[in-house]
Amino acid sequence: MIVCKWYAVCPLRRHERQGKIDMRWSKQYCKSSGGWMRCRRYKLETQGVAHPDNMLPDGSIDETLA
Ligand code: SF4
Repeated sequence: MIVCKWYAVCPLRRHERQGKIDMRWSKQYCKSSGGWMRCRRYKLETQGVAHPDNMLPDGSIDETLA
């Protein structure tokens, strides 16, 4: 399976381990062939633009995430 190159270090893994986010994010973006190209986090990382750990792949902010 081809996954996003930042899969292992992405804060979403921590949120998943803590059961705070649905696995659909990973399926639709992180583990989706080319899906990460649509990810807001991926784009910002590529551009070297800082972004918060509680930003989801669609660019929305989940205030419940630490
Ligand atoms: S959230 Fe985005 S940057 Fe993080 S692993 Fe998934 S696709 Fe990559």
